[in-house]
Amino acid sequence: MIFLFGERIRVKTRWIGPRSCAVCKTVASFTEQLESSWFCLFGLPILPVEQFARYWRCEDCLSAYEPGKLEAPSSVALVKRIILYILLGYNQHARVAAAQDICFKLCGFDLTDREAKTLARDISAGHLDMFDDVRSHAVHLNATGKQQVLEAAFLATHTCCELQYEDRLRINLIGNALGEGLAFVERAIETSRENNHYKISRRRELEREV
Ligand SMILES: [Zn+2]
Repeated sequence: MIFLFGERIRVKTRWIGPRSCAVCKTVASFTEQLESSWFCLFGLPILPVEQFARYWRCEDCLSAYEPGKLEAPSSVALVKRIILYILLGYNQHARVAAAQDICFKLCGFDLTDREAKTLARDISAGHLDMFDDVRSHAVHLNATGKQQVLEAAFLATHTCCELQYEDRLRINLIGNALGEGLAFVERAIETSRENNHYKISRRRELEREV
């Protein structure tokens, strides 16, 4: 007897009803988006292998939320952590205004002074493994959210230094943790460049060099 087996991606959309959207600032229709790979036998899905996406989506603005957490789209908290993580790496975490500017221009949500301080303290105390954090949250992000995370990494780097090989490598690794390839990372960086880097202020020494 010949067994035909393989793996297949399944995408499911389930209507979950009206919910309050933090972006639209009104009640909108929401769906649950599920994307997973399945082990198949004779073309029939037998066992789930890996889940790639699981999030709630506002059908008006298409923002993605972690299921049940509607205070802000799922990308916002991760964008905040990425910005502080990168700034800390360059010992620039005291530049809270730059961090707040990046966060608001990418997501439309505020990063408060208190949040920035708490994040900087937790990250520097080693309470957060950034790549594990990105990997575990990627499932709740749509393509827009992943792009925001990568642009946040790029802009936080750009505000601190001229991009060198190891800086770009770090952004590529964040892309990899998000489950995206180099072309996706390149597109995200290009979007920031096309938007004139959102006019984010840079370190004073860098401004003088220009
Ligand atoms: Zn919405």
